[in-house]
Formats: sequence, structure tokens, C-alpha cells
Amino acid sequence: MSYIDSHIHLASRQYRPYHESIFNLMLQTHLQCFCMSEDYDSSIQTILLKEKFVNNSNLLLAFVGIHPQYATSSTDINAFSDFFSSNLDQIDGVGEIGLDPTYTDLYPKNSMTSQKLIFYKMLTLAEQNKKPVSIHSRRSVGDILEVLPSYRIKNLVFHWYEGSKKNLKKINEMGFFASFGPYVLYNKEKQNLLRESDKNFVLVETDGPVRYKGCFENVLTSPSLILSIIFLISNIFERPFQETSELLFLNASRFINT
Ligand SMILES: [Zn+2]
Repeated sequence: MSYIDSHIHLASRQYRPYHESIFNLMLQTHLQCFCMSEDYDSSIQTILLKEKFVNNSNLLLAFVGIHPQYATSSTDINAFSDFFSSNLDQIDGVGEIGLDPTYTDLYPKNSMTSQKLIFYKMLTLAEQNKKPVSIHSRRSVGDILEVLPSYRIKNLVFHWYEGSKKNLKKINEMGFFASFGPYVLYNKEKQNLLRESDKNFVLVETDGPVRYKGCFENVLTSPSLILSIIFLISNIFERPFQETSELLFLNASRFINT
């Protein structure tokens, strides 16, 4: 058994000076990471990271994809598709992909039209190649739930779930996962969502290098935070720590095996 951080951006520039120590920590604590990408370049970096540090081990699983923030009218979708088909053996999943209207106000070339075009293409790649999917769904859970039945995607997680309890129920009934991060240690609302979740469809994540508040103020987000999240969840589920970590490990193993 090992611990699994189901969503972290280890190829991010902020982690570069710490790669060696992070991979040593992962090795020593049996902590596996599902490593997310945000655009074409970071997808290449994620694959390189896997080859450089953890070749022939499953310590890092590589997810590639285009994040809604970078899904603009100038995104070269064909170049990404070519990259995807030439690296199929190294690609373990598709992520971080999704929809988020927040970015259309921030970037001139980003619109819901460009986001949808790229999101649907990413879902098609996942469907055709039978890869699990990690979804970004801020302010868009309903829209995403509407399109998912058009794709045959077996394993999918709503990462950093913050939608309604009703949609959470729908997600679990569809056989999809919802994942929770370090904020559950200090956010009562998120703790309530966790209480409402189907225990067999919960995953844990750090989403590093995103930083957190409360007890994590001024701390570099490391995959080791997973242990604190599991401890909190064991309290919420009123189960021993060991039993909770086994449950979360089995959930993540089911998610990754398409
Ligand atoms: Zn992320």
C-alpha cells in the first residue's frame, strides 16, 4: 500500500529547485503522484520528469492536457494531438482539463467557445485511448455534467470539487470521483461536502504548487500534506487512520485502472 496525491503539478517551475528532494520523499514514504499538465509545453515537461526521475517505477503517473486557462483561440490543438499519439505509452491520463468562465474575463483570446472546443477534443482523446480524466470544474459543474454522457469515459475525477451537494450526488451516481485538498483542514463547508460524498468515490490531492491558508500559511505545498488530509478524513468518516488510507488508496487505484 502507498499514499496517493491524485492531483499535483510537479513539472511547475516552482518545484524545479526541489525535484530531487520531493522524489526522495515520495520514494521513502511510498507516496505516488498523479502529475497534471496545463498546456502543450507542460505536458512535454511532465513526460520528461517521469523519464528523468522515476523511469521504470510508478511513483509518478503522467497526465497531459490543456487547462481551461490556456484554451484560447491560438492554441494549436493539432500539435497537441500529434504529441499525444506519439507518446501514448508514457501517458497515464488526461488532465487538467475542463471549463472555467473566470478565465474569459482575464485573457482576451480565451472564450467559452475556445474552452469548449479544446475540452471536447481532450475528452475525445481520453475516450479513444481509454485514459482516466482529471477535471477542473470551477463555476461549470452543471455544464460539464451535461456533456459527459456523450463520451464513454470510464474513470473521471472532479478535482477540487466545490459544487453543490446535489451535483456531488449526481457525480457519484454516475460512478465518478470527487477529490479534496488541504483546505478541508480549515474549511467547514468543504468538510460538509466530504461528509456527503460516497466514501468509495473520494480521492485526495494537494494541487501543488497552489498555496493554502490556515495551518499551511507560508508553506510550500508538498505531496506530504496528503497525510494530514487523510488524518482529517479519518476523523470525518470516524474510521481509523490506517483503514482510511487503505480506502483512499483503493479508490485511487480504481480510478487509474481504466
Ligand atoms: Zn490543478
